[in-house]
Amino acid sequence: MNEELIAKAKTAKSAQELIEMAKAENIELTDEKAQEYFARLNAASEISDDELEAVSGGCGYSDGKQCPNCGSTNTKVSDDRGSFAIYKCENCQITFQVQDD
Ligand SMILES: [Zn+2]
Repeated sequence: MNEELIAKAKTAKSAQELIEMAKAENIELTDEKAQEYFARLNAASEISDDELEAVSGGCGYSDGKQCPNCGSTNTKVSDDRGSFAIYKCENCQITFQVQDD
């Protein structure tokens, strides 16, 4: 599988969907292989979710920073860059940057 296909495969919600995707690319995938790939892709995304959580927890970026535009605290970390984070306001939909302090 090439990288483009792997990225696409990561969006599969089931092994069956993976087989359908492979079929569309003219790749023959057995049930067994599909399940193996699916398990592996899922394991990989779980790890990155955990890492993401660890990073956002460790740097002190937590949801609920006050939006500079509308004042709402219904905001979420959308991109944690370490020294700063990009927040998205769920109320007015703007994104804003917060520096680590
Ligand atoms: Zn806002």
